[in-house]
Amino acid sequence: MIDLNKLVRENVKRLTPYSSARDEFKGKTGIFMDANENPYGNLNRYPDPYQRELKKAISSLKNIGEDKIFLGNGSDEIIDLCYRVFCNPGIDKVLTFTPTYGMYEVSAAVNDIEVVKIPLKSTFQIDLDKAKTFFSDDKLKLIFICSPNNPTSNSMNPEDVEFILTKFNGMVIIDEAYIDFSDQPSFIRLIDKYPNLILMQTFSKAYGLAAVRVGMAFSNPSVIQYFNKLKPPYNISTINQKAALLRLSKTDQYMKQVSEIKAERERLSAILPKMSMVEKVFPSDANFLLVKVKNADYLYNTLIDRKIVTRNRSSLVTNCLRITIGKKSENNKLLKALKSIS
Ligand code: PMP
Repeated sequence: MIDLNKLVRENVKRLTPYSSARDEFKGKTGIFMDANENPYGNLNRYPDPYQRELKKAISSLKNIGEDKIFLGNGSDEIIDLCYRVFCNPGIDKVLTFTPTYGMYEVSAAVNDIEVVKIPLKSTFQIDLDKAKTFFSDDKLKLIFICSPNNPTSNSMNPEDVEFILTKFNGMVIIDEAYIDFSDQPSFIRLIDKYPNLILMQTFSKAYGLAAVRVGMAFSNPSVIQYFNKLKPPYNISTINQKAALLRLSKTDQYMKQVSEIKAERERLSAILPKMSMVEKVFPSDANFLLVKVKNADYLYNTLIDRKIVTRNRSSLVTNCLRITIGKKSENNKLLKALKSIS
């Protein structure tokens, strides 16, 4: 059982958060002379610091209490907040399963936190035997699990994830940026079971709002309160809150796009292995494919010459390109280009 009191940094427990004008008066009507805003215009007022309307919509969509939801300026802000709430710079450590999303390590460097990296097994699954040897290290505060994982595109075995949630006495962050493209159920169902779980999702992928920068975290209300305590007061603009809210009202469009992307993923997964330069297409639970080719640097550059931009992940997985699923017409152009490259 975790003891949040022990896990949270002392300075975070002690600090008095900034109290904004919108914290002190929450009503919507009246003459507002409290926040030094310009009285003219449509976007002249500060946004709701706690994004209540948007959280209400997310709460009913995900069937989870509003007090268990935090919204960040993208998931990237939430990753940074996890470090700032739980990790003492220069002292504490986090654990990641590599290769994985690069921001866990960059955020660790920003916060001066050591990263213990455990390579995924050849199946791209978690190496529990290696991981558990670190569980007793009291400097280890966070474990990041990305599922489906970027760039390997697979979901992590749910039993392994629950093993970590049960045995590790620090916080476990499950990053589900790509969950909408997976047939596996979300780990959000485990929020009440494991108080050490922080689950992240985002509006940047399946919801098609990468430009809007809204990431979601789900956790027990005490953790959410710590995030609220540390975040900048107005971390999500009014325009962005409205854009996310509007998107949630268009469920049909979301479902259609997700199923089209999944269908295209299956189509490409079937065709690509027939190309001469392709050695393997890894099974994907995400909106991208990890493709092992004969010479990734050559193929990457040749595609760039044809104005097709993929991600060269060779430094992480030998000779692999990560290819995001595009529209059908875009995918056809990729296939045509590949056919013409020998
Ligand atoms: N998590 C993963 C696994 C990602 O791949 C990405 C972005 N590529 C993010 C989080 C960042 O999401 P956001 O746009 O919400 O900051």
